[in-house]
Amino acid sequence: MEAAETLRQWIEESQNIVFFGGAGVSTESGIPDFRSVDGLYNQKYDYPPEQILSHSFFVRYPEEFYRFYWDKMICEGAQPNKAHRALASLEQRGKLKAVVTQNIDGLHQKAGSRRVYELHGSVERNHCMRCGKAIGLQDIWPRKGIPRCSCGGMIKPDVVLYEEGLDSDVIEGACNSIAAADLLIIGGTSLTVYPAASFVNLFRGKHLVLINKSATPMDAKADLVISDSIGKTLEPYI
Ligand code: ZN
Repeated sequence: MEAAETLRQWIEESQNIVFFGGAGVSTESGIPDFRSVDGLYNQKYDYPPEQILSHSFFVRYPEEFYRFYWDKMICEGAQPNKAHRALASLEQRGKLKAVVTQNIDGLHQKAGSRRVYELHGSVERNHCMRCGKAIGLQDIWPRKGIPRCSCGGMIKPDVVLYEEGLDSDVIEGACNSIAAADLLIIGGTSLTVYPAASFVNLFRGKHLVLINKSATPMDAKADLVISDSIGKTLEPYI
């Protein structure tokens, strides 16, 4: 049977679908994967992105951190793509129970998804390091330099930086969802970023589907591998 037809049948039969997604979901909305470092970074920044996006760097060089952050991590005008919309639609129809994502752009919620476990946090949420006040991205303007709260404290994005731990409630929710799923669809991730692979190992359901343009270490474990665009693959479910 054709892969698309197999997926269609499994989605039809499933009542508890969970989607686990990575950077590839966002790149189809025009958001670059900062891990795929190109020459541009090296010309413009004195440090590799993994170092700039670390806790110790943020504390020590906030100005340099924010120069990179506003430039590379915030994509003004990025919109949900077909994959985001299909997942939101599947949730609305009671098929899909959760989205677990490594992305921090908030596009799943923008598309209408309600239960989203953002393993690495979200650029949409921020807080003041002095008074603790929660501050939405829409309330930060201008988006250059070090953003300050009305109390004068420095604002920090609720994004999990390197050297920082993941939120335990988010981990628990993601793990429980995956463990309870009957169909797990993994998309747009090479599954090499910690802790993606260990989460996937919790899956005990019927079918594991991988949608990724390139091969992943998980391919051999999957019941179905689709080497294509996620947006294109999920479009029929919008
Ligand atoms: Zn404050």
